[in-house]
Amino acid sequence: MKKRILITGGAGFIGSHLCDRLVAAGHEVLCVDNYFTGSKSNVFGLMDAENFELMRHDITFPLYIEVDEIFNLACPASPLHYQHDPVQTTKTSVHGAINMLGLAKRTGAKILQASTSEVYGDPQVHPQTEDYWGNVNPIGPRGCYDEGKRCAETLFFDFHRQHGINIRVARIFNTYGPRMHPNDGRVVSNFIVQALKGEPITLYGDGSQTRSFCYVDDLVSGLITLMEAPNDVIGPINLGNPAEFTIDELAQQVITMTGSSSPIETHKLPQDDPMQRCPDIGRAKTLLDWQPAIPLEDGLRRTIDYFARVI
Ligand code: NAD
Ligand code: UDP
Repeated sequence: MKKRILITGGAGFIGSHLCDRLVAAGHEVLCVDNYFTGSKSNVFGLMDAENFELMRHDITFPLYIEVDEIFNLACPASPLHYQHDPVQTTKTSVHGAINMLGLAKRTGAKILQASTSEVYGDPQVHPQTEDYWGNVNPIGPRGCYDEGKRCAETLFFDFHRQHGINIRVARIFNTYGPRMHPNDGRVVSNFIVQALKGEPITLYGDGSQTRSFCYVDDLVSGLITLMEAPNDVIGPINLGNPAEFTIDELAQQVITMTGSSSPIETHKLPQDDPMQRCPDIGRAKTLLDWQPAIPLEDGLRRTIDYFARVI
């Protein structure tokens, strides 16, 4: 059935892929973005589509429209960007959630929150299951993002309990792919851009910290499946690829795949950088019949091809 779907942060990396998919499925898609880290160029290919509309709007302010579903993705995701204006980052997560939940309440729309593995902080449970409450430093440099996203989850569950709002909460783990901003600061884009330019690969710490990388197409399938799941499947649900790599292994793989002669240059590990991160996706497998299909090497190949074209 054709639906009116709002995607906040729709001109960003993940949001623009979600717009592509939902426009192709024939829905009426309204993309709302303040272009802080996203850009019109990410949705340029959709501008001529009759069922796509783009609107500049900051979700820390209320929005009065009519919709059936809301994907709330607006929020800078790269540590470099979310620490640039930390007060605005928390406002986007918290005021943004209040505004979008208010919109869901008024219209009766179903609403999905793009939460994050950062709610687990520097985790002491490994791999991370959804019932783990996390280990977050509330006053550190990542707090603006981590606590903002945690508070947004609280708001989603309170709106659900108090007002009966139909919610979904996805805890997204590190996702990568085409349309990441070349200067985004996240590890996959940094390493690929550095390798392609022959610049030093900036390895933070000794590279023994781990991450689990999910290709964007897999993640978008997970988000849509969660939104379409039966109404008792509200989450939180981890969405990510459980294949875990050290950051050093990622650097070596990018160097090999690009054939680069870039040297590795070590830098200080940022404060509160999580030492390990890997999703337990048992809940997503059981409740959504979802799991990622694209291994790191395939996803990196597509991402390298993309950056080779754009930089
Ligand atoms: P991104 O920075 O590319 O996209 C975020 C988008 O939100 C951008 O287009 C930005 O301009 C927009 N935005 C920011 N503040 C806004 C505001 N106040 N009003 C309106 N628009 C605003 O990041 P992304 O990787 O596409 O992440 C999308 C969502 O997924 C974010 O909520 C992020 O927290 C979450 N997430 C992403 C990852 C990941 O690895 N990519 C992991 C966990 C969670
Ligand atoms: N990282 C790195 N070099 C870079 C960027 C990041 O070694 O140029 C490391 C970073 O310290 C972290 C991991 O890569 O341990 C993932 O960082 P990213 O910013 O992509 O995401 P995070 O999972 O930390 O939010």
